[in-house]
Amino acid sequence: MFTLKHLIKPPLTKGFVQNVLTRCLFSQKGSGSKKYYDIIIAGGGMIGTTLACTLGKNTRLSGKRILLLESSKDSLYVLPEKYSNRVVSLNPGTKKSLTKIDAWKHINEARFATVKRLQIGCDGVNSQVRNAMGVHYLNWKYDNTGVVATLTFSEEFDNCIAWQRWLPTGPIALLPLNNSQSSLVWSTIPADAKKLLQLTNEQFVDAVNEAIWKVFKHNSYVDQVLKTFDGFLRVSNCSPGLNRRYPPKIVCVEEGSRNMFPLGFGHAASYVAKGVALVGDAAHRVHPLAGQGVNLGFGDITCLDNVLGEAAYSGSCLGNVNYLKVYETKRQRHNMSMMAGIEGLYRIYRSDLTPLVLLRSLGLQTIDVLNPVKKMVINHAST
Ligand SMILES: Cc1cc2nc3c(=O)[nH]c(=O)nc-3n(C[C@H](O)[C@H](O)[C@H](O)COP(=O)(O)OP(=O)(O)OC[C@H]3O[C@@H](n4cnc5c(N)ncnc54)[C@H](O)[C@@H]3O)c2cc1C
Repeated sequence: MFTLKHLIKPPLTKGFVQNVLTRCLFSQKGSGSKKYYDIIIAGGGMIGTTLACTLGKNTRLSGKRILLLESSKDSLYVLPEKYSNRVVSLNPGTKKSLTKIDAWKHINEARFATVKRLQIGCDGVNSQVRNAMGVHYLNWKYDNTGVVATLTFSEEFDNCIAWQRWLPTGPIALLPLNNSQSSLVWSTIPADAKKLLQLTNEQFVDAVNEAIWKVFKHNSYVDQVLKTFDGFLRVSNCSPGLNRRYPPKIVCVEEGSRNMFPLGFGHAASYVAKGVALVGDAAHRVHPLAGQGVNLGFGDITCLDNVLGEAAYSGSCLGNVNYLKVYETKRQRHNMSMMAGIEGLYRIYRSDLTPLVLLRSLGLQTIDVLNPVKKMVINHAST
């Protein structure tokens, strides 16, 4: 079992972020209905709504008309008392983007025939904008389904560390919500996920506790090498601290919070074409094991905002593919390295081949004691 430092507390529910962003959007732009738009954004999820707010705040784009389209029913968002089962952990780069559009302060406080110059697809994994562009989309399904739920611990404690443990069937992770609750993301084989959803609340809690605490048979060869390596680190005075903490027992699952989501990988070969750009899950989809999916999308927003500002400043059309290509190149360079890293981790952790088990265990132990390398990994994940 190993710990991941939780980057920003508290984690945020998707509906809550969207509500804050929508309020920001309407406080910036009137809802007048002219027929002409410079930019049309398809998809008002977290990424589409943030993008609309960001572009609306860009002084170089002032005077441009932006339309945000969302297919789901318009309903007034009321912050529920209970946490939703879809929680995301946001990295410092994302916090910066949300601060820029005045959305972070709210989060912190609470917890017709149109002509367009640029259409932006923020319409998620099954993007119709991407389909219409006809770009090649490399994708596959994982033999993993994500089970989510809101869990309550047996006692209160300083719950500020996100936990992840790799089980033979996939990772189980706990993201802190408050001192007594965490959000569960348990990736497992689809048959097990279905069973987990059918269990009674008590049986489900037992299954989660077992998954967190069960001791699995260790590979004695790997254990021996790790012990020797640990001894070497201690002699070299660079042993990791022993202040690892374990989560307390789970006693309860929030009624109705259990749900499951299919998991997959996807990457569009092109993010742009003349007058069109893809942002967020419409362009890329990753396994949630590193909690990076939406953060990649927020990074896209910052980059596209800069590129469109440049285009407007130099008097170019917003749909000019030469500018859009700059966005594509920058973001693909960043996203593909992150996606390859996540995919590599997924494959290494799924394997029980002794050399791979040894490689990942030694790798983790080494990163843990080499502060510059640890900082480099965290920095890359935070941008
Ligand atoms: C189990 C699970 C756990 C996760 N945990 C994390 C985490 O901890 N950290 C993290 O960073 N990421 C996490 N992710 C990933 C994260 O949820 C996604 O990356 C993020 O929601 C993508 O946002 P989006 O706005 O691009 O797409 P979506 O959230 O899919 O939004 C797309 C929007 O477009 C709308 N739409 C669709 N089609 C159309 C259309 N034709 N016209 C108009 N509107 C349309 C939809 O109604 C929707 O509102 C997780 C994902 C899963 C499945």
